[in-house]
Amino acid sequence: MKNLMNHGVTAEVIATGTELLLGKTLNISTQYLSEQLSGLGIEVRYHVTVGDHRERLKQALTTACGRSDLVLLTGGLGPTYDDLTREVVAEVAGAPLVFDGEQSRRIEAFFQGKPVPEGSERQARFPEGCLILDNPRGTAPGAWVMGEAMIIFLPGPPQELVPMFVDQVLERLRRWVGARGHVRVRVLKVFGLQETELERRIEDHQKEWRELDPDQVLFCTLLDQHTYLDMRLCVRELPEEEAMALLEKADGFWSARLGLRVFARDEQTHVGVVGDLLKERGLTLATAESCTGGLLGGRVTEVSGSSAYYQGGVISYANRAKQELLGVHAGSLERWGAVSECVAREMAQGARKALHSDVALATTGIAGPEGGTAEKPVGLVYIALAHGEGEEVLERCMVGERESVRDMTVETALDLLRRWLLREGQAV
Ligand code: ATP
Repeated sequence: MKNLMNHGVTAEVIATGTELLLGKTLNISTQYLSEQLSGLGIEVRYHVTVGDHRERLKQALTTACGRSDLVLLTGGLGPTYDDLTREVVAEVAGAPLVFDGEQSRRIEAFFQGKPVPEGSERQARFPEGCLILDNPRGTAPGAWVMGEAMIIFLPGPPQELVPMFVDQVLERLRRWVGARGHVRVRVLKVFGLQETELERRIEDHQKEWRELDPDQVLFCTLLDQHTYLDMRLCVRELPEEEAMALLEKADGFWSARLGLRVFARDEQTHVGVVGDLLKERGLTLATAESCTGGLLGGRVTEVSGSSAYYQGGVISYANRAKQELLGVHAGSLERWGAVSECVAREMAQGARKALHSDVALATTGIAGPEGGTAEKPVGLVYIALAHGEGEEVLERCMVGERESVRDMTVETALDLLRRWLLREGQAV
């Protein structure tokens, strides 16, 4: 993710635990917290992982407090002497640890009459003046420590951290961010550009945009979503109406410059947008899939109500299926091969005919890792659209693993159809 203009609230996540550094545990908690913070319009600038080591944790926390508005720690809240988070936070925040009777009782109750492990009383000690966060699923309560930088510490295990975050942190954090200036976000979803290309385009128009936002109230971050990019436009420290007006202006400005590459906004999905366009135009769709093996049809039917326009699909993996179910010519397969412009075209025509639809999409390609040749390398795909007036076929060479090649093929097929629907879809 890249911050391209001005900035809002910044955050850092520190995960503690030697098991994370040893590669024994996948650091899910940092990923979860980052996603949540980003969703609130907070810019996560650093991820740090430290072992159970007092000096190193202290150094990491001190550095974090010096460079971020908000620091979230996860882990290191257990009863043993290598669980150091509480003590280090107290030291860095300059707040002595004080015993909390209620939390001590809660920890005791957690063991339901069984002997309480040695050291558990350490878990009931918190930096003075903090807000304690209950942990109904474990023995390690969290805390929210107000200071120059805001520090929040939470348990390490995701099954304890997630409910604590959702029930006791999320809303408070939203209000805290709001008090620092409401953050309103508009997400433009961009297909067909690499992150660096989009950055360059944004930079090319930066001067023009500055004239519309001279105080640079709006800031923009890019987030790679695997098959597309999120361009997150954020505004803070403005009353809601003004913020929304500025976002609207920015949306119009950037959409005009990025054109049809912007395929959706906020909660909209590619397949949802395509579905709405088909409905609006009163058109039906069929699919014929080889290398995507049904993924495209699966994606189309993720949308509730897709039966209004989706007729069905043919998964024609073998040549024989392409011939028998879709009417692909044996001569085309022989001359050009299954992965070819000609076969993609005939597959789309065949699906349109077999399923009586107005338009049809077809995919054929080499998803890999095997099957590539010098002439037809792994990643080569053909995507065809058949409509009332003919066909359009794209040739693409996708990069990445099998899964990425297939995902990108599906998105490219949707993109082909969406662009056609916006351009000429009414003409059928
Ligand atoms: P508790 O005492 O309730 O277990 P804790 O905050 O002390 O909580 P840790 O002792 O740091 O947590 O970790 C306990 C276990 O939780 C680890 O062994 C690991 O399985 C899991 N865990 C810790 N941190 C993470 C993380 N960042 N991502 C995923 N799992 C984690």
